[in-house]
Amino acid sequence: MNAGNNERKDSVRNIAWLICAESIRLKYFENLAEKVHNGEKEDAIRHFLNPKRCIESWFVRTINSNSSGNPEQKYKDTFSAEFKRVLQEIRTCHSYEEIKKFVNNYMIQVDNVDYKLDLYGQITENDLKIFQDIIEKELETKGNNHPPRREPFQKPSDDKSIMERLGCTEACYLCGALCWGSRDHHENVDETKIHHSSHQSAGLACVTNDTDELVATPCHNRTDDTNMWYFNKNESTKRSFAKVQDFSDWKFDDPHCMHVFNDLMCWFFDKLHKDLAKSRNLKPASYDDLKKNGCLSLNYNDIISTLKTKIGE
Ligand SMILES: [Zn+2]
Ligand SMILES: [Zn+2]
Ligand SMILES: [Zn+2]
Ligand SMILES: [Zn+2]
Repeated sequence: MNAGNNERKDSVRNIAWLICAESIRLKYFENLAEKVHNGEKEDAIRHFLNPKRCIESWFVRTINSNSSGNPEQKYKDTFSAEFKRVLQEIRTCHSYEEIKKFVNNYMIQVDNVDYKLDLYGQITENDLKIFQDIIEKELETKGNNHPPRREPFQKPSDDKSIMERLGCTEACYLCGALCWGSRDHHENVDETKIHHSSHQSAGLACVTNDTDELVATPCHNRTDDTNMWYFNKNESTKRSFAKVQDFSDWKFDDPHCMHVFNDLMCWFFDKLHKDLAKSRNLKPASYDDLKKNGCLSLNYNDIISTLKTKIGE
């Protein structure tokens, strides 16, 4: 079983774009961007309305449906090769003690072959050959019953080390940008537990200004005296206050992380702000705001190829 499980996980681990969070997210957003570019906006809109859930479920779906590698065959091959080796070892044993030791030691390593050798009777050396034959027969019967299993192999998404590559997928409340921390970093006790991101146009998370227009400015460029609207509150909250009161688990003023995605997110905002606004009964971003934040006249192909170069794809 392990051979099959490992084969399945290894074939996922070896996929080039699965090597780190940057390349995984590039793959994900590239996919969404391509659809938007072709006029299919639904998936991208769904993502920006619920970033964490969308990227998580895409990732799990993608790695579990990866069909390269053949876990069943690998399992069978490994099993029969190992089995041959066992039989050979038993044939070359010179005493019961040797056989007993070998079989008992070996069988604990082979899953689901329940074969424990216990010798109490006094068997003479002459019977050794007969005894070897009996064990071989018994093991063969067990072995033959063994391979055609119907149990599914473990899913790659059950493997912690594979899921870790996706990183932390918490989304900033005020712009929807995904955190760039490591998986489960929020459980740390020091300041590395704070979520941090490369903040994007706030309107991507349907954040508005005082007149219900989606905002193109990313979190780190908004000033502390800005009125922030969130959590469906009836009143706005000053940004300086919001940071401390409601979002102390996030960093907002430090745009250092992964800004290579900035242009792509600006492009998404330009393409989707009208649809996002409509889905929440809000107003789209103003032309001036889009322009000021560099969301206009971005070229899809340039953005993707620049991103790929920067990430080293
Ligand atoms: Zn943000
Ligand atoms: Zn985080
Ligand atoms: Zn930077
Ligand atoms: Zn960081």
